[in-house]
Amino acid sequence: MLKYNKKCLYCINVFASKASTTNYCSTDCSFFHRIREYNSCWNWLGNIAQSGTINFKVEGRSTTAPRYAYEKYKGILPKGGYVVRTCGNDICVNPEHLLHTYNSTEGTKIQNEKARDALYKEIKADLRPNKILSKVHKLPLHMIRDIKYGRL
Ligand SMILES: [Zn+2]
Ligand SMILES: [Zn+2]
Repeated sequence: MLKYNKKCLYCINVFASKASTTNYCSTDCSFFHRIREYNSCWNWLGNIAQSGTINFKVEGRSTTAPRYAYEKYKGILPKGGYVVRTCGNDICVNPEHLLHTYNSTEGTKIQNEKARDALYKEIKADLRPNKILSKVHKLPLHMIRDIKYGRL
């Protein structure tokens, strides 16, 4: 069988590849090359389907990047149910931010609450004038005040 000597785009190791189109020495290299860590999130820089699904190929099989990350670090995903992001960041594939649930509304709720708490914390810690914060976060001024004074 014809083999190609390729240099992995991620770890730069030279490896023997069966196909000239293979650019990574391993699935992990293919995965991590598409991630940029930011604020503890693993932001996916690879392709994302219009539906929001982050497709990812493992040895020719199609799966999703969140599933791959979840199963690599947390074990096999149970059948059915949903994977939600506790950080509320749609392009995050950090397994620590992925949660399996059977309840879609609960999943959304957890996600929203976490995202909301993070936003409130950020606003509370921001010392700029409320008017500016209202513009930056596109929230009404009275809401910014309520968040600042802990009424929300
Ligand atoms: Zn590699
Ligand atoms: Zn995240």
